[in-house]
Amino acid sequence: ADKTRPIPFDNSYARLPDAFFAPVDPTPVEAPRLIKFNRPLAEELGLDADALERHGAAYFSGNTPLPGSLPLAMAYAGHQFGQFVPQLGDGRAILLGEVIDRNGKRRDIQLKGAGQTPYSRRGDGRAALGPVLREYIISEAMHALGIPTTRALAAVATGQPVYRDRVLPGAVFTRVASSHVRVGTFQFFAARGDTENVRVLADHVIERHYPELKGAEKPYLALLDAVAERQAALIAKWLGVGFIHGVMNTDNMTISGETIDFGPCAFMDRYDPRTVYSSIDHGGRYAFGNQPMIGQWNIARLAEAMLAILDDDQDKAVEAANAAVGRFMERFQEHWKDVIRAKIGLGEHEEEGDQALIRDLLILLYEQKADYTLAFRRLADAAEDSGGDAALGALLEDPGALAPWLAVWRERLSREATSPQARTAAMHRVNPAFIPRNHKVEEALTEAVDHGDFSLFEALNDVLARPYEDQPAFDAYAQPPKPGEEVTATFCG
Ligand code: AMP
Ligand code: MG
Ligand code: MG
Repeated sequence: ADKTRPIPFDNSYARLPDAFFAPVDPTPVEAPRLIKFNRPLAEELGLDADALERHGAAYFSGNTPLPGSLPLAMAYAGHQFGQFVPQLGDGRAILLGEVIDRNGKRRDIQLKGAGQTPYSRRGDGRAALGPVLREYIISEAMHALGIPTTRALAAVATGQPVYRDRVLPGAVFTRVASSHVRVGTFQFFAARGDTENVRVLADHVIERHYPELKGAEKPYLALLDAVAERQAALIAKWLGVGFIHGVMNTDNMTISGETIDFGPCAFMDRYDPRTVYSSIDHGGRYAFGNQPMIGQWNIARLAEAMLAILDDDQDKAVEAANAAVGRFMERFQEHWKDVIRAKIGLGEHEEEGDQALIRDLLILLYEQKADYTLAFRRLADAAEDSGGDAALGALLEDPGALAPWLAVWRERLSREATSPQARTAAMHRVNPAFIPRNHKVEEALTEAVDHGDFSLFEALNDVLARPYEDQPAFDAYAQPPKPGEEVTATFCG
């Protein structure tokens, strides 16, 4: 690595027209302290991990400028809970620049909580330690679960207070993303009638995320479809692990198809599609089971924002946009089918009764108030050996309630070619034993924030790095909350 440049920046966003961003430097903090550094990720990105770790407090707080960085705040708009806000933008995030990783992929490196920007409005530009650690844990857990997501490179405590409903320790989070371009970035230019920059943005993201579309007959329409495809796949994966994003505003939906913004997100314990944790989601707009519909709604907003460039003939553009939006739900259904079939051990070969089999299981899990994650994990065990039925039954209100379903399921599995051992192994690879349980996340954050003890934060990260392996020594992390341990609300930071 280049000793004078611990991060070999190659910045393409900074070369876009002025309207795309505002140059802004991080605001130094008093007493930065490196809490966590993601060395494997630094290596994957081709960074000088030694230098970054040694000077992590200075670099990842923004106190010492990184040579080659071109710090900027990105402009964007967005629909927040259905209401359009024409100007949002990075109010507390500063893009340092981009690197080309070991696989040739361009990745953004961004500080979150590094001070005010021209888009801060009334905000302080800062982040509190709790939410920073939360994003660290959950984004890395998502990655380990195999779900496209932004990543956590570092967390730094600032030594400065932030003022929320109470005084909290401040922190800066270093986020890595394929890019930070959102649906709301397109909306920013569309809302200003700036068709030229909608096109510039579309060209930028095609080059960056969808280079295969460059030769397409209608590249912008193909782009809309491709984004819809990645979002449909992403949301199906979320549903597979019980993830509730919590704030699926259009400024929190990436064009790359990565999960972004872990503010009020949570993983569902007991299976109920109406589950909501976010304290700001009063109407349950972003409830677990609403996420596919909201994904489609957001894609409709992207289609609107791209309308002027979809076709020179605007009637045709509207028609094409509507068709793309309509296809989103079909795409989602296809991906969800793949996800849920794998979860119950079914392969490619489809039979007529399969849909009913899946539906009946989900109804039973709901009625029996079963823990979503453990129920599928125990089902995987039961696929090999009916001795596992008791452990599955123990998750239900009525332990015998699944018996008739299990009989139908086994009969169906008998027509699959896979051996029971191979089936259980395959089911273990898609049904995690460990998710970031809300009560364990809260416990780790409370220890860190209130007592300065990061041992639970470290332990949680370690367990969640191998979510598909049984780790008997850490069974407490696999268990749903006991009565009284349940965390029912999450808050943005
Ligand atoms: P979010 O709810 O995290 O998606 O953020 C919505 C908008 O509020 C974005 O424009 C953020 O940059 C901005 N924002 C959130 N928190 C702060 C803060 N503490 N200071 C300044 N801007 C903020
Ligand atoms: Mg956001
Ligand atoms: Mg947020």
